[in-house]
Amino acid sequence: MTQNLFDLTGRLALVTGSSRGIGRTIARGLAEAGASLVLHGRDPERLAETAAEFTAEFGAERIHHIAFDITDEAAVAAGIKTIESTMGPIEVLVNNAGVQHRVPLVELAVEDWDRVLRTNLTSAFLVGREVARGMITRGSGKIINIASVQTDLARPTISAYTASKGGIRNLTRAMTAEWAGHNIQINALAPGYIHTEMTQKLVDDEAFNSWILGRTPAARWGSTEDLAGPAVWLASAGSNFVNGQVIFIDGGMTVVV
Ligand code: NDP
Repeated sequence: MTQNLFDLTGRLALVTGSSRGIGRTIARGLAEAGASLVLHGRDPERLAETAAEFTAEFGAERIHHIAFDITDEAAVAAGIKTIESTMGPIEVLVNNAGVQHRVPLVELAVEDWDRVLRTNLTSAFLVGREVARGMITRGSGKIINIASVQTDLARPTISAYTASKGGIRNLTRAMTAEWAGHNIQINALAPGYIHTEMTQKLVDDEAFNSWILGRTPAARWGSTEDLAGPAVWLASAGSNFVNGQVIFIDGGMTVVV
């Protein structure tokens, strides 16, 4: 019986930044649970490659794709309008796309600060706002914002990223305060250190790699697959009374010193 709680058959899910990395694996997890997918990214060629692979696996009726820049308000509005008028209402939104920028705080240029904040935080507001309008009208929806262990923890050289991911926690709460009464569940997933293109340099750095292994109770890097189960749960009826939470998927990193 409880198995049906996690069935996403017939639901349409938009995962931003799903052309690669964590977003791509979350999208695969949702598709395996039955959802139809709108794959998304900025680079149309990379996105088309991912869409072709998903289409081969899950069928053309269930797989759509669209490229737009999530930092551009007009492009976001046009993108969401195109999806909802041609592919269907978005019932699950995963605000996943994000960027990192590593530089000491005293050397951080305001242009880079703005770019990271706009990509990681403002975009979740822009995409969330457009999608929520339809969810409020329909009286249901699921929004999953991708946070980070940097929602709770700071580290030298990633100040803009840390500020943006702290903001994601309170944006998740603000969305909940205003939209939960419309039967929309908004939560955040906070991944720990996950091996992706974004973190490849850190994996290759011997000192950093052994620090991660020692600092993480589970004694390993996360894999993108570790995010799929929690994402399916938060996208499904199994989480219908879970509101405004940040769920850490970090091998225990944030519970130890
Ligand atoms: P990747 O760099 O592997 O992928 C980023 C994705 O976002 C790509 O699809 C990219 O598309 C898209 N994207 C970036 N900027 C834009 C934009 N302006 N408009 C549209 N799409 C954009 O990232 P990860 O998979 O590593 O990270 C995904 C999320 O997970 C991020 O929010 C990140 O902060 C978070 N996270 C990652 C961790 C990790 O260890 N990797 C740990 C904790 C959180 P394109 O290729 O077309 O540019």
